[in-house]
Order: sequence, then structure tokens, then C-alpha cells
Amino acid sequence: MAVVLIMLDGVRPDALDAADCPQLQAFRDQAAATMDARSVMPSITLPCHVSIFHSVPPQRHGITSNDWTPPARPLPGLIEVAAAAQKRCGFFYNWEQLRDLSRPGHLHYSYFRDGAEHDPAADEAVAHMAAEVIGAEKLDFAFVYFGTVDTAGHTFGWMSDGYLNQLERIDRVFGALLAALPAASTILVQSDHGGHERTHGTAMVEDLRIPWMLSGPGVRAGTPIDAAVSLLDSAPTIAHILGLDAPAAWEGRVVREALAP
Ligand SMILES: [Zn+2]
Repeated sequence: MAVVLIMLDGVRPDALDAADCPQLQAFRDQAAATMDARSVMPSITLPCHVSIFHSVPPQRHGITSNDWTPPARPLPGLIEVAAAAQKRCGFFYNWEQLRDLSRPGHLHYSYFRDGAEHDPAADEAVAHMAAEVIGAEKLDFAFVYFGTVDTAGHTFGWMSDGYLNQLERIDRVFGALLAALPAASTILVQSDHGGHERTHGTAMVEDLRIPWMLSGPGVRAGTPIDAAVSLLDSAPTIAHILGLDAPAAWEGRVVREALAP
């Protein structure tokens, strides 16, 4: 049984309604979900992802731009915690900066294909590989990163036709991946930040509001989450589902509202 974090970079919650996304809509309907979760400041991809995997805000982990620098005092991240408990973890991604989300020696499988040249098909390769590998390699945790909707936001503008069209394409990619995952997988679908005009990174609610949707065995199906959810809560919730103890340094919480009692 795998836990899979599917990251939709730069996807605003209102985009899920504005675009025609039957796969994501169906997933949302049977998930425990909130369309009002929060990112962190600065609402930029690498700081947000380091916060997701280490459950502390950028002020504490020190990564405040898309340039990674080694932290003076490294914090334990989700991958290190999972690997210490002999869990098999895998990454599938197309933006190379994300290689620093875990320290060398902790991943069982890693697939990277550069998608920086705005190839609208860059997420298909990631999804295809994730679909093939997650079950075959018996991964306990997999991180699957789709970057093209964010790229479309920077190119065409958030909520523009070009942005929504790319989201509709990713909806089909998402549906195919979902169908290929091992039965009884737990799946967390979220974004890292939203966006406005052709950018993000600010404290505007359009940049900070993100979708957060959890589905799987032991999850309250079809339940809206009214409580506040932060992206800092993703690692504690995933760790809890994997049966791991959260390090004391983590600041997020287990989103118990999403879990069956
Ligand atoms: Zn971006």
C-alpha cells in the first residue's frame, strides 16, 4: 500500500472549477478536501516544497528563493524519516531544483526529466514513469510532481485560457496515473502555491490559497475539511499514515479531520 503525493504546481483552487477537470473533480468528490488550504511566504516553488517536506516555514529552513543553499542546521525531512524506518521512497519530477528535497542516500527510486523548456508534454513522461514504477518497485511513498500548469501560468497568465487549457490536459494525465496506481493507495493531491497575472510569491490570497485533497483507506470519503490546513501539515499527515513518528522540529499537524476516527 503506497502513499502518493501528487503535486500540481501553481494550481489555484478556483481553477479546478473554471476548467473542465472531470478527473480531479471526481477525485475531489470522494476525498477529504479543502479548497482553502494555505501556502507559506514566500509563495515560491522551492521554498514551498522544502516546507512541505520539512514541515517548517521558510523562515526556519532558510530556503527563500529557487536557489537551494545547504542549511546551517539541517532539519529531518519526510524522506529521511521514512528511510530510517525502512520505507521505500521514490521521486518523479521534471524540475531539477527538487532534487534537494531529500539528502543523498535515502531514495529507493528517482526519475527526473527536464521540463524547463516549456514542453507541455513534460508531465506525461513523469506520470507514465510513476505509473510503471510505484507498484512494480513496491514504493511506500512516492512524490509525483507536475510542473507544466505553473509554467503555463507564467507564460499565459493565471486563470487565462492557456493556463486553464494546460490544467485540462493535466487532468487527463492525472486520471491515467490514478487508474494505474496500486489498489488501496492513499493519495494526497495539492499545489504548492497559486498565482496572479504572470507571477506568484506574494502574500496575496490568490498566491497563498491552495487545494488539499486526501483520499484512500482510512480517509473520510467525500468530506469537506473546514479546519485550517497548511502545507506544513502534509508531511505530518503522510508520516502518520505511514506509521512514522513526526520529528519534534516539525511545526505542522496531522489533519485528523480528514481521517476516520
Ligand atoms: Zn512558478
